[in-house]
Amino acid sequence: MNKNTVTVIPGDGIGPDIVDATVRILKALDCGLEFEYAIAGQAALDKGLDLVPEETLAVLRRNRLALKGPITTPVGGGFSSVNVTLRKTFDLFANVRPALSIPGVKSRYDNVDIMTVRENIEGIYSGLGQTVSDDGETAELRSRITRTESERLLRFAYETAVKQGRKKVTVVHKANIMKSTSGLFLDVARKVREDYPQLEHEEMIVDACAMQLAMNPHRFDVIVTTNLFGDILSDLCAGLIGGLGVAPGANIGEHGGLFEAVHGSAPDIAGQGIANPTAIMLAGALMLDYIELHDKAKQLRRTVRQVVGEGEIVTPDLGGRASTSEFTDELVRRL
Ligand code: NAD
Repeated sequence: MNKNTVTVIPGDGIGPDIVDATVRILKALDCGLEFEYAIAGQAALDKGLDLVPEETLAVLRRNRLALKGPITTPVGGGFSSVNVTLRKTFDLFANVRPALSIPGVKSRYDNVDIMTVRENIEGIYSGLGQTVSDDGETAELRSRITRTESERLLRFAYETAVKQGRKKVTVVHKANIMKSTSGLFLDVARKVREDYPQLEHEEMIVDACAMQLAMNPHRFDVIVTTNLFGDILSDLCAGLIGGLGVAPGANIGEHGGLFEAVHGSAPDIAGQGIANPTAIMLAGALMLDYIELHDKAKQLRRTVRQVVGEGEIVTPDLGGRASTSEFTDELVRRL
């Protein structure tokens, strides 16, 4: 395990462009990091390797940090998702997705600051027991929630909330209908939160939460929830602050973290040199915070927020005309 070496997985589609831009910024910040490249996804399949090659797993095992571009997940065909595989293999149990408004970026609301902490390994999203009957008429998928995993995630969420000086944690569930799985998660939450009297606690059913997020996002601070709900609600939160192009994510385990954008490989704009690297750069800032280079993280975040907020030298998705590399040049100049 090497604290200063980052495994870099460029990913598919726009991945290599936005990852390159981020590595450029991290080098310019002079953080003392080294970078070791590995491949996964379509890039690996194209070389006749597995979706997540053994060499890649070995590199990831060696370094406790990874920066990953988005990966195109082949639909059907018996492939399991690269992301789900990496989360399970490296026990990355918590997915942290902060949604923080950037002044100047066009969005429905200003001053949104919501951190979603999503359980990352269990639940319906984990793909357990996926079957389709021989006649293709019936499909099944199992959801499994454990007390141990729920407690680990909830404790992480409450601890992170306290560390960041947050005030309120909303536990999102569907225990009224999914009484066994969601009910168990809620039951664990009610016990764990007793250890955090300094925080305000709230429970909300997922459908009501979606409506409240759309109507009154300022009432939220931290949302903690199970895998699929967290996946969906955090995209909703990204939508509140101006879209997927600016939303970062961190996958955290007990022994390391993997940092990425919330968005996918954007095949519709791949190869055009116009992808917005903001989200993965902000994920890079989360990585710097994770290794306690807080000043460097702040410097990166401040510069990105400034340039994006000014709205002049930004990529087309944010209403500008800059290419990925022109935007990155400007950031490097302004660091
Ligand atoms: P997407 O996030 O790739 O794209 C959605 C829309 O947002 C597209 O119009 C795209 O052009 C735009 N967009 C996304 N990121 C952008 C950026 N940085 N700059 C400018 N515009 C951007 O979602 P999708 O099209 O549903 O998925 C494409 C592929 O990505 C699928 O194979 C999916 O499975 C995969 N995916 C991977 C991850 C990951 O690796 N973490 C996450 C989500 C989706």
